[in-house]
Amino acid sequence: HEFRTPLSNIGLAVSMLSKKHTELKDNQLVEVIRRENKKLLQEVERVLHLAKVENGDYALEKEQLSVEHLLQTAVDSLVMPIAERQANVSLEDIPHDLYIWGDKQHLTSVFCNLLDNALKYTKERPLIHISAKTDEQGVIVAIQDNGIGIPSHQREIIFEKFQRIHQGDQHSAKGFGLGLAYVKRMIELHKGFVRVSSEENRGSKFEVYLPTVL
Ligand code: ADP
Repeated sequence: HEFRTPLSNIGLAVSMLSKKHTELKDNQLVEVIRRENKKLLQEVERVLHLAKVENGDYALEKEQLSVEHLLQTAVDSLVMPIAERQANVSLEDIPHDLYIWGDKQHLTSVFCNLLDNALKYTKERPLIHISAKTDEQGVIVAIQDNGIGIPSHQREIIFEKFQRIHQGDQHSAKGFGLGLAYVKRMIELHKGFVRVSSEENRGSKFEVYLPTVL
């Protein structure tokens, strides 16, 4: 709360300011404050999310979820960054009748994190392909990007807290290195696992495996 409340107040103050002074409505600097404030709030939410999961202070509310719907919700919530990067996100061939048993809010966050990374760690125009299929034990969702890739010796540590890879101009992408730690723990709490395959400068594929019966 010590972080969240002042950040929310800044956001509120900026909104009120630009409402009161209409000449500020399209002001670039006001827009910067608004955007950066939003990013910081999102990071704070991530820290709180992970802290809760680690403390066991969470209650998973599991229900039957349509995989197609879940993935579409994640894509919809990232329309702004997708548009900003002029990314092409394809979400085709997801079987309509694919269901999993899980927590809607947390699983949406998991896919948002993976999608957000696919957008962040790509130099060119991002081409992101999201697919889903079943095998005899469960559902596999794959998020494939055409980004900078991950060196093979670092494919394990990126799932640890505060681990980021520093190479090239990658540090220009903002973050604390908490997203994948959250993703891994949350998927494990759903009795699944995450795996990554990647080719440097070509792209990465994150696969989330969720068992059908939990
Ligand atoms: P953050 O994005 O906040 O740094 P994450 O835990 O989500 O934290 O990711 C950890 C690190 O893994 C990132 O800093 C980045 O170096 C690497 N990474 C994650 N996703 C990708 C991706 N799709 N392509 C390339 N590198 C990635």
